[in-house]
Amino acid sequence: MSVIVYIALGSNLDTPISHIQRACQELGALPQTRSLQCSRLYQSTPHGAADQPDYINAVVELETRLPSSELLSMLQSLEQAHGRVHTGERWGPRPLDLDILLYGDQQIDGPNLQIPHPYMVERAFVLYPLAELVTDLNIPGYGLLSDLLQTCPAGELEPLNEL
Ligand code: AMP
Repeated sequence: MSVIVYIALGSNLDTPISHIQRACQELGALPQTRSLQCSRLYQSTPHGAADQPDYINAVVELETRLPSSELLSMLQSLEQAHGRVHTGERWGPRPLDLDILLYGDQQIDGPNLQIPHPYMVERAFVLYPLAELVTDLNIPGYGLLSDLLQTCPAGELEPLNEL
């Protein structure tokens, strides 16, 4: 059975726009998966450690038959293929970060995978691109996307073509 999933993409190293554009293509080429939509690209100021370049962010909607654990491991392989080295630094700079935001309407609370992604509901660079792809959405355990947007100002988040 296939499910609709949403993936958040972020990059702030080594030509971030091209990392995000390539990753959008690569996500749609994963096995048993097709890409349905990709948001515009956004520029955001770094979260956590401020002494790093701005981020480019986007959200992609996929339809997949991959189980969530396999999807996660394929995303981690893609991150590595883009030159990501896991340093243990939580909010450090990276050529590519891929997070599973939603996997159908499932709630998963495992040691390696939490869905909905626990930080998605407070991050403008996730909520605003996601809102481009859906008219409204129930985020399991958190409520409606439209309500979450009300409490999450866009701040310095800018769609790239409006810069
Ligand atoms: P990050 O530094 O943001 O790439 O976090 C990577 C870690 O988050 C990995 O060890 C994953 O197992 C874990 N993780 C937990 N939930 C998720 C999720 N929904 N999507 C991606 N990674 C996740």
